[in-house]
Amino acid sequence: MTLLTDKTVADKPADIARPRTKARTPAATRNRILTMLFVVVLALLPVLPTPEFWITLGNYIGLYSIVAIGLVLLTGVGGMTSFGQAAFVGLGAYSTAYLTTQFGLSPWFGLVVGLGITMACAYIIGLITMRMSGHYLPLATIAWGLSLFFLFGNLEFLGKYDGLNGVPVLSFFGVSLQSGRSMFYLIWVVVLLAVLAMQNLLNSRPGRAIRALKGGGTMAEAMGVNTAWMKVVIFVVAAVLACVSGFLYAHLQRAVNPTPFGLNYGIEYLFMAVVGGVGHVWGAVLGAGILTILKDVLQGLLPKLLGSTGNFEIIVFGVLMVLLLQYASDGIWPFLRRLFPSGPPVTAPDDAQPLPVRQKPEAGELILDVRAARKQFGGLVAVNDVSFQVRAGEIIGLIGPNGAGKSTTFNLVTGVLPLTRGEVRYRGEVISGLPSREIVKRGVGRTFQHVHLLPTMTVLENVAIGAHLRGDFRPQGGVAAAILRMNQVEEQKLLFEARRQLERVGLADCMYMEAGSLALGQQRILEIARALCCDPALLLLDEPAAGLRYKEKQALAELLKKLKGEGMSVLLVEHDMDFVMNLTDRLVVMEFGTRIAEGVPEEVQKDPAVLEAYLGGVE
Ligand code: ADP
Ligand code: MG
Repeated sequence: MTLLTDKTVADKPADIARPRTKARTPAATRNRILTMLFVVVLALLPVLPTPEFWITLGNYIGLYSIVAIGLVLLTGVGGMTSFGQAAFVGLGAYSTAYLTTQFGLSPWFGLVVGLGITMACAYIIGLITMRMSGHYLPLATIAWGLSLFFLFGNLEFLGKYDGLNGVPVLSFFGVSLQSGRSMFYLIWVVVLLAVLAMQNLLNSRPGRAIRALKGGGTMAEAMGVNTAWMKVVIFVVAAVLACVSGFLYAHLQRAVNPTPFGLNYGIEYLFMAVVGGVGHVWGAVLGAGILTILKDVLQGLLPKLLGSTGNFEIIVFGVLMVLLLQYASDGIWPFLRRLFPSGPPVTAPDDAQPLPVRQKPEAGELILDVRAARKQFGGLVAVNDVSFQVRAGEIIGLIGPNGAGKSTTFNLVTGVLPLTRGEVRYRGEVISGLPSREIVKRGVGRTFQHVHLLPTMTVLENVAIGAHLRGDFRPQGGVAAAILRMNQVEEQKLLFEARRQLERVGLADCMYMEAGSLALGQQRILEIARALCCDPALLLLDEPAAGLRYKEKQALAELLKKLKGEGMSVLLVEHDMDFVMNLTDRLVVMEFGTRIAEGVPEEVQKDPAVLEAYLGGVE
C-alpha cells in the first residue's frame, strides 16, 4: 500500500483502483437470507399450533427488545449508562391506560399523548443529566427511575399501587387485537421497525456523530458536533422506544400497576442490552430473548432444586452478570456475529454533487493572530504569553522539545482548552472563548497528536465525520430524516466528499478498512483527510509525519505544498527537522512554554538559543 504517491495526489478520482464494493457479496446475501428466515419464522409462529405459552413469551421478548434497542443506542453506542428506562415504559403504559379507562379515549390518542409526555420529560431530564459525567449519570438515572416509580404508586388518579384495570383491546384498522397471537404481530413489527430505524440512524451523519460521542467527545466537538445536544437527542429517542413498549404492554396486559416500571426492571433492561452486546442493535433482541427465557426456566427450576420458593433467579443473574463482564464484556452477539460475517460496509458513490465550499481568504491575509496566549495547569505554565501570526497561504512550523507546549497551543487555538489569559483572533474575529465546534465552523481544521478515531468504523465513515457541518441541512437536526432514510442525497454528498479527500491524501485504497487496522502513520493521514473534510482555511497538524516512512513523508510534504498552492494555511508541529526545514515559510520555536525564536528556517537554524534548546548547546 502506498501513501500519497504522485498518482493519488493528482486530482483524478478515476485513477484509483476501484474497491470491490458494488456487487453484493456472498456474506451480504447470506445475511439477507438469515434475516428473511427470521422474519418468516416470526410470521409463522402465531399461525402454527404454537403453544400459547410460547406466544406469550415471544410477546414479552418483543416488548423488552424495544426498550433494549433504545439502550443500545444510549449506552452501547453513546456510552451513557441508564438504569431508568423502565420509568419511561411506565409513562407510555400509564398515559394510555389513564386516558382510555378514565375518559374512554382511543388508545392511539393515548399513544400520542404518552409520546408527548415522554419526550417532554426525557428532554428536561436529559438536559439536566446528560451533562453529568462518570458515576453521576448512572446515579441520576437511578434517582429518576425511583421518583417516577413512586409517583405512579402514590397518585390517587392512577390508582396508587393497585394501578388501573380494564385497559381496552387495541384495534388496528378495524381488526381487534384481542388475542396474544394478534398482538404478537404488532409487537414484532414494531421490533423490526425499531431495528431498522436504529440501523438507518447509525449509518447517517447524526449517527456518525453519535458514534463519536464515546471516549469523551473531544474529537466530535472538534469536528463541529454539538455533543451535549446529541446526547439529549439519543436520550429522547431511547425514551420514545421505551414509551412505545409501555403502550403495547398496557394493551397486552389490559391493566397497569407500578411494579414493572420500578428500578428492578430498569436494571434488567440494562442487563439485557449488556448480555446481548450493548454495541449491537440485534444484540438487544438477543439479550432480551436470552434473559426472558432464562428467567422463566430458572423460576421453574430453582425452587424445585432448592426445595423452597423465592426469587432465586436474581442471584443466578447476578453471578452471570459478573462472569459475563469478566469474560465477554461485549456481550454474546459478537460471538454469533462470527457465524454471520458482516455485510458490505457503507460505500461512497463514484460521483455526487460536491458540497458547497467556503470563501477562502486572499493570499497574505492575516488569518491567525495569537496574542500573548497563556495556559496554566495549576502551577505549571504550559504556554507562557506566546504570540505569533499566520497569513493565508503560509506553512508555519511550531517546533520545540517535548513538553514545550506545542499541543497545548493547538488546543488553545482550536478551543479544546480555555485560555488562562490572552487572545486568539481568526480572520480578525476573537475566537478565544468559543467552543471548538464554533471554531471549526469558521474554518479551522485540526488533527490530534494522539489520534482520535473510531477504530471499528471504516476509514471512509471516520473521514465523513469531518464533513459534519457542511451542506445546506440544519447542523443539529437530521435525526428524524436519518431514521426515515430521507437523507440519501445528503449522505451521498458527504460520503463522496470523504472519498474525495481520501483520494487526495492517498488513502483511497483503505477506504473500506476498519480505521483501527491501519498503521499509526496512516491513521494520522486519515486525520488529515478528516480535517480537510471540514473545508478549512487553516489546518493545524500535530506531528502528522510521526510514524511515516521516508517515502510517505515526502508524499505528505508534496500534499502540504499542494494545499499551500491552493491557498491553504498550515500550522504544523513536527519533530523531523529535515521535513520542517524544507517545507515551512517560518518557524516558531517554543521551550518550556515560552516562544524563544521566530523566523525563516535558515535563520532559526543558526539561532544560539534554539541550538541550546534543541541540541543541548552549540557544538
Ligand atoms: P508538546 O506538545 O510541546 O510536547 P504539551 O503542550 O503537550 O507539549 O505539554 C506542555 C506541558 O503541559 C507539559 O509539561 C505537559 O505535561 C503539560 N500539560 C499538557 N496538558 C496538560 C493537562 N491537561 N493538564 C496538566 N498538564 C498538562
Ligand atoms: Mg505535543
